[in-house]
Amino acid sequence: MATDLRTSPHMIPFSPPRIDDRTIRAVEEALRSGWITTGPRTKEFERRLAAYCGVDRAIALNSWTNACELVLRWFGIGPGDEVVLPAYTYCATANIVEHVGATAVLVDVLEDLTLDPEDVQRKLSTATKCIIPVDIGGLPAIMRRIMSMAEGQRTTFKPAQGNMPQQLLGRPLVLSDAAHSFGARIQGRPVGAQADITGFSFHAVKNLTTAEGGALTFHLPEAFDPEEVYGWFNVMSLHGQSKDALAKSRPGAWRYDVTAPGYKCNMTDLQAAIGLVELERYDRETLPRRRAICERYQDAFATDQRFVPPVLEDSERTSSFHLYMLRVRDASEGQRDAIIEAISRHEVSVNVHFRPLPLLTYYSGRGYAMSDQPNAYRHYAREISLPVFYDLSDAQVDIVIAAVKAAVEEVLGPSAD
Ligand SMILES: *Cc1c(COP(=O)(O)O)cnc(C)c1O
Repeated sequence: MATDLRTSPHMIPFSPPRIDDRTIRAVEEALRSGWITTGPRTKEFERRLAAYCGVDRAIALNSWTNACELVLRWFGIGPGDEVVLPAYTYCATANIVEHVGATAVLVDVLEDLTLDPEDVQRKLSTATKCIIPVDIGGLPAIMRRIMSMAEGQRTTFKPAQGNMPQQLLGRPLVLSDAAHSFGARIQGRPVGAQADITGFSFHAVKNLTTAEGGALTFHLPEAFDPEEVYGWFNVMSLHGQSKDALAKSRPGAWRYDVTAPGYKCNMTDLQAAIGLVELERYDRETLPRRRAICERYQDAFATDQRFVPPVLEDSERTSSFHLYMLRVRDASEGQRDAIIEAISRHEVSVNVHFRPLPLLTYYSGRGYAMSDQPNAYRHYAREISLPVFYDLSDAQVDIVIAAVKAAVEEVLGPSAD
């Protein structure tokens, strides 16, 4: 069985991965095959990811962060360029912008915690080269609006000389941060074929994991050749080397060239072996179980005035049920922290997603002010994420619910009704 990560044997953990005999066998088979770096399993995983998302091509890499940083480099984004992204996200979304020397322009979020399209519209400028909506908790951002805003920039967009993707696209790139939303739906169709490029994370705590890992799906206009785009990412994720290990393993095919100093962020077949098992049972087992857990929470909290339940579904969108982001309606930030302490005393692990970027030392030092993003702060200050993972039983969900309600009473007093 999986190593026990709990500090107490009774503690309900937050989101341990689902590792069972099938996962272990798949990794063992990969080890025994001798292909432990990028090879046939990675290529198969990519084909299946593309098919799942309904796109021509997907590439599997070693993290969301490196995959999406590579996207910014592909699109030639650098100093003087602006990238619009929400203040309410994980630091990775903004860190990649810092890595390439561009400027992150922060926007506020809506009540459903996704980025506010009106605020995006206000922040667009002639320097905007990319918009990164975040599907926070697994709920897709309002992608149609964002795509049409990007289209609206066509007349003022100034493509960089010497960057072919900017010239072909002729407007800002929409790169979806779908680190939380693999398997979420927009109008019934899986996330991955709405933005120009979608980035997924397969980090250990994410819905679908490869231990560490990430992928991109490409959904670019016709002017782009999917094979050429895939080829660029494939080569640049491996030092810029014209042939990967698999291609070089063919008889007589040893000679390679390097045409640009690439990066090193390929996925290994050990990771892909885990991913193939995860993907195969994703719609049949993972998503239905996560949905059932979130709906059990929803039944307990949506009818209780002390809480603001998360949006899991509306007429256009269905969450991937990655996080159950509960808010305590009348709690201050300090009271929320006290509630979390009380919940831990009831032996339940919870989390907060996320400290908005302006609260982080680096970003406040760069001049970003929390007061410019009032909604992000208001939501964050009241937010508590509850455990959601495949092996969480209904009985444990009920223990979590009781612990949260008891903790809120301990800190805020008995409920009015
Ligand atoms: C996890 C996460 C990332 C980073 O993913 P990695 O695969 O760890 O690089 C990016 N954005 C969000 C919103 C995340 O939660």
